[in-house]
Amino acid sequence: MQADSFNPGKSDFLQPSDSEIQTWMSKAFDMAIEALENGEVPVGCLMVYNNEIIGKGRNEVNETKNATRHAEMVALDQVLDWCRFREKDPKEVCEQTVLYVTVEPCIMCAAALRLLHIPLVVYGCKNERFGGCGSVLDVSSDHLPHTGTTFKCVAGYRAEEAVEMLKTFYKQENPNAPKPKVRKDSNSPPGGAVVIQVNYPFNLLFEESQM
Ligand SMILES: [Zn+2]
Repeated sequence: MQADSFNPGKSDFLQPSDSEIQTWMSKAFDMAIEALENGEVPVGCLMVYNNEIIGKGRNEVNETKNATRHAEMVALDQVLDWCRFREKDPKEVCEQTVLYVTVEPCIMCAAALRLLHIPLVVYGCKNERFGGCGSVLDVSSDHLPHTGTTFKCVAGYRAEEAVEMLKTFYKQENPNAPKPKVRKDSNSPPGGAVVIQVNYPFNLLFEESQM
């Protein structure tokens, strides 16, 4: 069997019950609320292995000034630490780990999930602008040779609530909210280094709607 081939039955043994989804997603939403309270785009997630949380994260882009610190990336780093500390094989652990996240993973995070062989993702609302699980690209299920393993998604859990939180974030006066305008040269750091401002995907989510 090809390593990259999609096997729809593979994650069936992980199929969480409604009450499990409710329990874990509730904690993911708590993380998203924490993000919102800290001036971050409200996305929260958990990684669950053998009924145990082995990684959790919320968006930390503003705090770390690092555009890649999405909730999923934070959680995946914790999973890898967890494996290292217990001398477990990350591939074996990840193959049995479910991600619970309040918003559809973006293209970047979906690719990271593939590379680490996470088989199942349960998420809340769609990410219309940058979603990597169907909204923009199908990173989750496309045939992408040498790019990890496809994963299955269960979508729509508390979706309206997840969207409302994103709307709340973009409505509020937020000093950390990315400015869409062109940066002036005077903002360049000493030494003449060029700063490329990478806006977090969701800052564009609602710009085109009537908000
Ligand atoms: Zn992401």
